[in-house]
Amino acid sequence: MDGRWDLSVFYRGFDDPQIEADFARISDLCVQIRETLDSKGEPVTLLEKTADQEEELNRLFGKLTGFAGLTQAAEAGHKEAMQLYDRCMQESVELDMLSSAFSRYLGAMDAKTFEDTIAASPKLQSIAFHLRREREAAEHTPAPEIEEWLLNMSLSGAGTFSQLRDQLDATLMVDYRGKQLPLSEIRGMAEDPDPAVRKEAYEAELAAYKKIELPMAACLNGIKGEGLTMVRAEHFDSILDQSLYGSNMDRETLDAMWTACREFFPDFRRYLRKKGELLGYKNGLPFFELFAPISDGKTPAKTYTIEEARATLIRELSKFTPEMGKFIDNAFENDWIDLYPREGKSGGAFCSGVEHAEQSRVLTNFTGSLSDVSTLAHELGHAWHNRCMAGLPLVMRNEPMPLAETASIFNETLLAHALREDVPHDQLLGLLDADLQNSTQVVVDIYSRFLFESAVIEGRKSHNLSVDELKELMLDAQEQSYGDGLDPEYRHPYMWACKSHYYIPGLGFYNYPYAFGQLFGMGVYARYQEKGPAFVEDYNKLLRSCGSDMVADVAASVGIDVHSADFWRSSLRTIAKDIELFIQLADEQIKGE
Ligand SMILES: [Zn+2]
Repeated sequence: MDGRWDLSVFYRGFDDPQIEADFARISDLCVQIRETLDSKGEPVTLLEKTADQEEELNRLFGKLTGFAGLTQAAEAGHKEAMQLYDRCMQESVELDMLSSAFSRYLGAMDAKTFEDTIAASPKLQSIAFHLRREREAAEHTPAPEIEEWLLNMSLSGAGTFSQLRDQLDATLMVDYRGKQLPLSEIRGMAEDPDPAVRKEAYEAELAAYKKIELPMAACLNGIKGEGLTMVRAEHFDSILDQSLYGSNMDRETLDAMWTACREFFPDFRRYLRKKGELLGYKNGLPFFELFAPISDGKTPAKTYTIEEARATLIRELSKFTPEMGKFIDNAFENDWIDLYPREGKSGGAFCSGVEHAEQSRVLTNFTGSLSDVSTLAHELGHAWHNRCMAGLPLVMRNEPMPLAETASIFNETLLAHALREDVPHDQLLGLLDADLQNSTQVVVDIYSRFLFESAVIEGRKSHNLSVDELKELMLDAQEQSYGDGLDPEYRHPYMWACKSHYYIPGLGFYNYPYAFGQLFGMGVYARYQEKGPAFVEDYNKLLRSCGSDMVADVAASVGIDVHSADFWRSSLRTIAKDIELFIQLADEQIKGE
């Protein structure tokens, strides 16, 4: 097994005649949907017919873009994949316009006729949430006469910038100890047991970003600039409002969450300083030590072969439900996962649903650390989420960003707690640290990204931001969130070039959903601890309903009030307790030396 994923579930190859057949069918369906919407037929029949056509269209489109996108992620610059992806993007203009036409059709119906129509059809009732949201979306569609122009311009604007960003990232070679290594491999060295490796990798990484800072800054300016134009065309007050709208979330929820998070920053900073102390630093933790493994100095941090990782995941996650263990085993067995770092392969990790086959594919850059095992648990959580949604109409599977991380965080938390229970005392500190590294990322680092993106958008209203300005804003955002937890001499002025989330066309603030996901996932986990095995069914139902209601209502279905800062505080308190324990154990170790 070479650790590559199997994409034959999509097509036999880029010359598979089924690709042309699927494009042809998509064209047919587009024409048919327009005809249906223009037919002025009786609404129940008309909407039922459109629903079927939309479902088939989405399924085919997802299959084509999935094949192109996943191939590119595993192999940057794959020519046929890029061509196929471009073709899909051109086709997506027509799809977006159809979706707007559909919204306008629904928006033109009076409220009573609309609700009566839904009530008259079981098929429409099964997608009622989608229909209601599409009707509301009518007020956020651009004027029909400019829409096609906007969408086409966006392809050659933000769409192209975003692709360029990914190519710059995937092909950047880093000069490290006389060798040229891919960026993903260098970033993986942040977890190396040798402190000299971690520091040199960080320095090499910063030097490498310098080589691509200009085009990266151009990409970011282009994408945010276009974002500002689009929100005006879509009648939103801000990119954040547009993002929250797309997240099925309200500002009250976001404010409650950030309020609680800020209250706990002093705890996170104490953790970071103590970790710094453990590693021999006096002035806070240097950025390049955020992911440093912590051990008692005698036993090295545990590493995993892929077989050990697989067995650990199956063993521990089966304890929640044996179904989950079988599911994970199957994902490994059938090559759903692209495992190892490679030149030209994208960094980080993600999971992508393969809806037409009711499967998923996962990409990771596994190098054997505990955090890599945790990443696998995370991504396989997404895959489990997809499985829970199997059989639903695709339009009801669009879980919004904040809920998209529920299952992944839940899995991570399950694994972390399980591993903690039977770990020898001398390894507990290292395990706690691994969890806290992660919590620090999704609470503190994510907050810095939220601040940074807010500042970039504000600045971009008047001008293109220079590389220096971007670096300055990044350092400032890190100061406001990490505070004295980080050594001011060693922060990371290029995190804006590192994280792809800033570069997604039409999607601002892909950061707060991570904090939401982490803290919400922990809250859901707390419900599981209260209720035990009886919770499994509730949990799976919760996951299935993630795309079928507003976030606050989905949460309320398992008794969680996301409008209340108290809910968020309760999840943060769990982390604060871990911080206390970490500090206590660290002090014991420091004294013992
Ligand atoms: Zn995730």
